[in-house]
Amino acid sequence: NKITIAIDGFSSTGKSTVAKQLAKHLGYVYVDTGAMYRAVAYYAMQNGLINQEYFKVEALVSQLSNINITFKFNETLGFAEVYLNGVNVEKEIRTLEVSNFVSTVASVSQVRKKLVEQQQKFGENKGVVMDGRDIGTVVFPNAELKLFMIASAEKRAQRRYQELIEKGDDVDYEAVLKNVQERDHLDTTRKDSPLVMAEDAIEFDNSDLSREEQFDKILELVSL
Ligand code: C5P
Repeated sequence: NKITIAIDGFSSTGKSTVAKQLAKHLGYVYVDTGAMYRAVAYYAMQNGLINQEYFKVEALVSQLSNINITFKFNETLGFAEVYLNGVNVEKEIRTLEVSNFVSTVASVSQVRKKLVEQQQKFGENKGVVMDGRDIGTVVFPNAELKLFMIASAEKRAQRRYQELIEKGDDVDYEAVLKNVQERDHLDTTRKDSPLVMAEDAIEFDNSDLSREEQFDKILELVSL
């Protein structure tokens, strides 16, 4: 019997790594909901709706019906890439610049409503692993397995920094740490569906685990 697996937690706790491994192992569909919020933030940036000085919330809300987000499985990569209005934006949405605006965009209720509805449709047929901030609390409160990933802010910033450097981005560690801390703050204090652990979620601290150790432990939870 296929189930729904919800993986929530703070930024850069390794949610997507675990979610991808699990989906592959179980033959499930993986949905990266952060990519959807990032795509909306990228749209807002591209269309002059957000920058350091302003955020044109009403304009973004009125244009939401023009924002079409889809996923397409990439055989080579082994996971689905995100498309914004038919254009692959998988690379564009992973920059520190998008990371700096995404939590502000994700705090808009109408944005959340649109994306949550789409996420619930993706999960209609079970057999889905979804990662995000509100999957176990809002998107799938009845998910059979809920994990809540945690790790220290420094560990998380170190991992994210490493990823960005490997991609060739010119960033410094302090800026990445600051972004991780700011997103934690925005995600936990926003009015609409703030980041909290679902009551029936299992807290999982991976600060001192390798990817392999982490996966083995999580597989144990899946088979319980
Ligand atoms: O998971 P990722 O770090 O890519 O998510 C980017 C941002 O999108 C988060 O910092 C959060 O502000 C927002 N987000 C959200 N709800 C989700 C997934 C992501 O608010 N389910």
